[in-house]
Amino acid sequence: MAELFTVLAPAEAYRVLESRLPTGMKTERVPAVRALDRVLCEDLTSPVDLPDFPRSTMDGFAVRAVDTYGASEGLPAYLTVGGEVLMGTRAETAMHVSEAIRIATGGMMPEGADAVVMVENTQAVDSATIEVVRPVAPGENVLRVGEDITRGAIVLASGHVLRPQDLGGLAALGITHVEVARCLRVAIVSGGDELVAPDQEPSPGQIRDINTYTLSALVERAGHEPIPMGIVPDVYEELAATARRALDMADVVILSAGSSVSTRDMTAQAIASLGEPGVLVHGVSLRPGKPTILAVANGKPVFGLPGNPVSCMVTFDLFVGPTLARLSGRRAPPRNVVRARLAHNIPSAAGREDYVQVALESRDDEPWAVPVFGKSNLIYTLVRSDGMVKVELDEGGLREGDWVSVILF
Ligand code: AMP
Ligand code: MG
Repeated sequence: MAELFTVLAPAEAYRVLESRLPTGMKTERVPAVRALDRVLCEDLTSPVDLPDFPRSTMDGFAVRAVDTYGASEGLPAYLTVGGEVLMGTRAETAMHVSEAIRIATGGMMPEGADAVVMVENTQAVDSATIEVVRPVAPGENVLRVGEDITRGAIVLASGHVLRPQDLGGLAALGITHVEVARCLRVAIVSGGDELVAPDQEPSPGQIRDINTYTLSALVERAGHEPIPMGIVPDVYEELAATARRALDMADVVILSAGSSVSTRDMTAQAIASLGEPGVLVHGVSLRPGKPTILAVANGKPVFGLPGNPVSCMVTFDLFVGPTLARLSGRRAPPRNVVRARLAHNIPSAAGREDYVQVALESRDDEPWAVPVFGKSNLIYTLVRSDGMVKVELDEGGLREGDWVSVILF
């Protein structure tokens, strides 16, 4: 069997791919309510002051602060109740001296009022008079015009990933449409004579396709659109033709399986037929995931991932995920990591980066990472795991009891 000769370290392999990725991205204008988790592609400035009228932050009485100076339980200030501000309307009259106007949280301050006395610090004397038992300072319990955001200020910068509170913030300003990065269309091709669809009964020697479903879900979770292209047999012409169709209709192509160098492995050749510059990396010093192909054809990234479902998921994480993030203007999402103590030794060859699946357990209130060992082709090692522990390229392994970082799935 042939060997993978020019094997690159994972970080180096990604850099080679990254240097050939297209720059600039496609954008689209969408309703803000549909823009959750999308990458903003414009700087948004506020068209208004927020609030654009002074508002009470308490239920109570709008007053002139000066009319409450010196008020106490023993010597209250007596104010005349001059009316009420109804929510959503302007106060009808301006304030008079020694007057109090009933107001609710969020109500518009009447002209001439500069503070709000909380209802708790008042007492009704009769239907037209209250006692104020604590003084308020000017501005107390009042939101100033522009206190939330001022007109012309940048509210969100290009590159920001929109969160629920951001959408609320945009609604408050009347911004109903935003320019965001277009979702990428990611074609997924599963190759192998042995594969059948999950709703089929496999004949002896056949297995059900796993990778189409894992990869589609990974693409979806990254905020993009998977296009499953189905199962292709190990026939060069069919694989090359499907890869060509995938490249025409998608922004990114992933082929799983057939990525090594035996006579049945035709993925590298099929990718090479797609266009320039073609295959950039074939082989990464990684376990699982050594037979990985990174390529660019006609300005679109093309991946040949190993068919082993565990390798497939690990290599998606290392190479496809960061590529999708980059092409859609997103910073590579921060990895979700927890610290835990390793429950068994993990051996590893120096010069190779290893990823070991682990399940998290609590023992005596300490988090432990228990390696889920198994032969490499087992999807259920992933299903039983909570995350992976990375053994660095230059490390000869990790010891039982070591504190390690667990990259959560
Ligand atoms: P390959 O990368 O073609 O050498 O395949 C490696 C192993 O992964 C073989 O045992 C394949 O049967 C298995 N495999 C390949 N593709 C898939 C798939 N889509 N779903 C499940 N297993 C697969
Ligand atoms: Mg195969």
